[in-house]
Amino acid sequence: MTTTAHTALGGALGALGLPSPASFVLWAVSHYPLDLIPHWDLKRTWIDTVFTFGSLGALFFLFGPGPVFWGGLGGALPDLEHLLPIRRKLYPSHGPRHGRALPFSHAAEQLVLIVLCAAFLARYGR
Ligand SMILES: [Zn+2]
Repeated sequence: MTTTAHTALGGALGALGLPSPASFVLWAVSHYPLDLIPHWDLKRTWIDTVFTFGSLGALFFLFGPGPVFWGGLGGALPDLEHLLPIRRKLYPSHGPRHGRALPFSHAAEQLVLIVLCAAFLARYGR
């Protein structure tokens, strides 16, 4: 799953009312099952990085340094290792268990997920 989608979902679920540390840990851990689902991934990591940092900036600007921001950061953090020059990935879902790669036609599913998360945050985010 793209890091932007992990960030959006983490931010949205950060709005459920858990304290910031719980939101952060919950979403760092929940990154795992989301990566197992067959999905399309951006091949150009820098594009996903730009969108992820933009999303995190928006979460911080709109909702402050609370659970929404920490949920988004927790969702994104495991993918940070994709930016590192390491051969063997450390996060468990980034190895052989990673979900099957789907073609670009499945990008719309993540776009829908991101839009739904933004709509949820617009309604319930604080
Ligand atoms: Zn990942």
